[in-house]
Amino acid sequence: MWHVLLVDFEEVDESLLDALPTVGSVVIFLASAFAYLASIAIAIGMVGVMYGYSYSYSNRELRLGRTVRARTAARRVCNAARRRDGPANGIPQRVEAAVPALLTEGHERAEGDDCTICFQPTEFPVNRHSKVYVCCTRRVCNGCTLAARQRGMYDCPFCRTPHPRGEAATLRMIRRRVRKGDVEAIKYLGSKYYFGSLGLPKYVPRAIQLWTEAAELGSLEAHHNLGDSYYFGRGAGVEVDKPRGIHHWEQAAMRGNAPSRHNLGYAESMERNNELAVQHYMISAKMGYKESLDAIKRRFMEGHATKAQYAEALRGYQDAVGEMRSSHREEAKRIET
Ligand SMILES: [Zn+2]
Ligand SMILES: [Zn+2]
Repeated sequence: MWHVLLVDFEEVDESLLDALPTVGSVVIFLASAFAYLASIAIAIGMVGVMYGYSYSYSNRELRLGRTVRARTAARRVCNAARRRDGPANGIPQRVEAAVPALLTEGHERAEGDDCTICFQPTEFPVNRHSKVYVCCTRRVCNGCTLAARQRGMYDCPFCRTPHPRGEAATLRMIRRRVRKGDVEAIKYLGSKYYFGSLGLPKYVPRAIQLWTEAAELGSLEAHHNLGDSYYFGRGAGVEVDKPRGIHHWEQAAMRGNAPSRHNLGYAESMERNNELAVQHYMISAKMGYKESLDAIKRRFMEGHATKAQYAEALRGYQDAVGEMRSSHREEAKRIET
């Protein structure tokens, strides 16, 4: 057996044994070459997949042209807003989501516009068709005030406190409520300083200070007043600061303040952003704000709004006005005129 194996081994061609190392090198060389080529192929494949994905993605974007344009427009608005509300003004930078929120929030009138007695929203301008009584700082519409008088009630129609006699007594009543932190009273006192009434000197810096305090406590009217002051530079010593003014209007508009919403439309139209302006005007027109309806009508006539948009604004406006009407309010208006 061993002998056979020995013989067999001896019979193997010597040259083959000599060639063994050479064959091994060739195999190693081929394996490395294969691995090299395979890695190149994988790299090419990956590039191809990535390119294909990006191509199909961009193709999808192209197909959804409207989406792309909308995104671009939103980004442009957002970037403009970021430039506007830069940290230089001490206003936090807005995130992109804030732009849609500005248009989706605040479609309902703010509760502060409702009459405390009949719960109906007050007609515009709110402070002409209603009154805030200093005793309780509650808003009562002219219709309810008239109805109370017709029943022989000449004190506050809500809390029945007799009206303060004279400016000094009114001011004392207001200051008492300001000391208690009544937001409406703080805003009210700010307005008295702004116009210099109730025996107070006209002092705009104090008005701005009180409005700022009231705005921080949630007064939408205070936000609106600050918006007007900064955007237009109204009031002695107030410099024009449009970004700050717009910021205050936005705060009020997103919580249902129609005059602020209208002013945002105005600010956008000043920047020739007619499409965005109409969107703002549409919201306030549907709250019954006549100036916004008129603004949409003008843009429709100039070709910056569609007939459908004007018709929608008109319908919404008429519905809102219908909700604000009452026989007592109509009577109060007749007496006023
Ligand atoms: Zn009322
Ligand atoms: Zn009262």
